[in-house]
Amino acid sequence: MTGLLTVVGLGPGDPRFLTPAAAEVLASATDLVGYGPYVDRLPKRPGQRRHSSDNRVELDRARFALDLATKGARVAVVSGGDPGVFAMAAAVFEAVDNGDPAWRSLDIRVEPGITAMLAAAARVGAPLGGDFCAMSLSDNLKPWEVVEARLRAALAADFVVALYNPISSARPWQLGAAFKIVAETRDPDTPIILARAVMRPDERIRTLPLSEVEASIADMSTIVIIGASTTKLIERSEGQAPYVYTPRFYGVRP
Ligand code: SAH
Repeated sequence: MTGLLTVVGLGPGDPRFLTPAAAEVLASATDLVGYGPYVDRLPKRPGQRRHSSDNRVELDRARFALDLATKGARVAVVSGGDPGVFAMAAAVFEAVDNGDPAWRSLDIRVEPGITAMLAAAARVGAPLGGDFCAMSLSDNLKPWEVVEARLRAALAADFVVALYNPISSARPWQLGAAFKIVAETRDPDTPIILARAVMRPDERIRTLPLSEVEASIADMSTIVIIGASTTKLIERSEGQAPYVYTPRFYGVRP
C-alpha cells in the first residue's frame, strides 16, 4: 500500500463551505491528524483513526503524520480555513525539508479551503475589492519588530490589511499596539471589520470606525480587516449592518 498525505482545508466552520474535493479526501482517509477542535468538527467514521493534538506542536504533528504516511496510511492533516494560510501545510513542508529523506518521495497534496479573510469579507460586502494583504499578528514565530515593520509598510502602501491571530491570552497587547500604529496614518473614520467565528453558530461581525475600535472586542477567533483610505461604508436602515466595500479603482475612476 502506498501512503499519501493530504493537508486539508476545512473552511471557516459551516461544512457547506468545505469543498467537495476536501470532503472526498476526508472520507477516504485512514487517519485524521490535527488540532483537537478541527478533528472534532468531523464525523466519526468506522475504521478511521483520529489523532488529535493541542495547537502548540505543529511540527511534531507534521512529523507524526509523515511517519504514518510512510508506513502506508492515507493521512488527512486537517486545518481550519485554508491549510496554506498560517497553518499546517507549511509545517508539513518544513518537516520534509529538514527531516527524513524518505519523506521526499511521499505523495503530499494540499486541498485548499476558504480562508477566514475571504469568509469575513463576503459577510460584509467587498472590502477586498482593491489591493490587500494579510498578516499574522502573532509574534510567537517572528519578532514583534517584524510584525510592526510589515504593518507600517502595508499601511504606507494603502493596502486593506487583514490581521490573523490578532489577540490571545498569551498575546494580550499586540492588537492594541497595532491599532495605535494604524491611527498614526489612517483617518479616524476608517472602517475596521471585526469578524468573530465567521460561518460558525456563534458568528458575530461588527464594523466600527477606527476611532471607536478597541482591542478587547477581538478574541482569538476573530479576524480583523483594516480598511484602506478608499474603503467605504454604505449606511442602511436602522438595525441593518452597513455594507463595506473597496472600489477597484484608485483615485479617479478611469
Ligand atoms: N488557516 C486558517 C488561519 C489559521 S490562523 C484560515 O485559513 O482561516 C488562526 C486565525 O485565523 C484566528 O486567530 C483568526 O484570526 C482566524 N480565523 C480562523 N477561522 C476563523 C473564523 N471562522 N472566523 C474568524 N476568524 C477566523
